[in-house]
Amino acid sequence: MYTHVRDILLMAKESNTSAIGFVCMDYIMARAVVYAAEATNTPAIVMLYPEHVTIQKATGRAGYAEGLKELANEVKVPVGLHQDHDYTLESIRKAMDAGFESVMMDGSLNDLDKNIQETRVVVEAAHARNVLVEGEIGHVGLAADIDNDNDDLYTKPDAAERFCRESGVDSLAVSIGNAHGEYKQTPHLDIERLENIKAAADVPLVLHGGSGIPDDQLLVAFSKGIRKFNLGTDYFRRYYAAVRAFIEENNNNPDPVKIINMPEYVQARLQPYVEERMKTLCKF
Ligand SMILES: [Zn+2]
Repeated sequence: MYTHVRDILLMAKESNTSAIGFVCMDYIMARAVVYAAEATNTPAIVMLYPEHVTIQKATGRAGYAEGLKELANEVKVPVGLHQDHDYTLESIRKAMDAGFESVMMDGSLNDLDKNIQETRVVVEAAHARNVLVEGEIGHVGLAADIDNDNDDLYTKPDAAERFCRESGVDSLAVSIGNAHGEYKQTPHLDIERLENIKAAADVPLVLHGGSGIPDDQLLVAFSKGIRKFNLGTDYFRRYYAAVRAFIEENNNNPDPVKIINMPEYVQARLQPYVEERMKTLCKF
């Protein structure tokens, strides 16, 4: 059932676990998440990355939001819709106009004062429309650049407290040793820092860069205040493998219409992966 992300974060808090937000480029990826959520009775969040609209042109915003809500209402389990990393009020307004009730404002490349100022403007516009805003402080960089010994970009608890109080964000993405993309060395989440951030900032915390963090570390992080966990890279890797398998299996079939079977084929191969992630990591 289509459900506001705010309510899914509350459910996660009550169960002291985290919901998984899957980056879904298109309807096939979203459908695998919704059906996996239903099969495992696990609340989930489908996330649109704005560049899949503006650069890859894989979807439109309004059509995506409408399609996801229709899919979510096919099932009983709560399914939320969120727009991931966005950077300007103008772009976030487009998401809200398209029906997104949860967005991320990523001002993490700015200094703290500018991040607070720009995020607060988004929060004021969003709250007037009952839209949830996820902010980010510290900076979650690229996994290719990560260095477990360098914590310059990690979220600082006192800055997190001030950021939340002054910007009014509803949830907060933290940098505690996590990063986007493929890790070149095994990441080590700074759990003590996470505990200190949770004590300082009274909002649900979000962990980006979920592909490649060992499950045992994730489960500890979820028990210490992470309420939303973003998975992108690993899910895209599965998508690529499923498309490749379809092509290999149909290589000797000259009928061009065979392509109509591809979405169902790919979804059937994505869904077990999503179910496994939910069963292993989510404790609702
Ligand atoms: Zn991210």
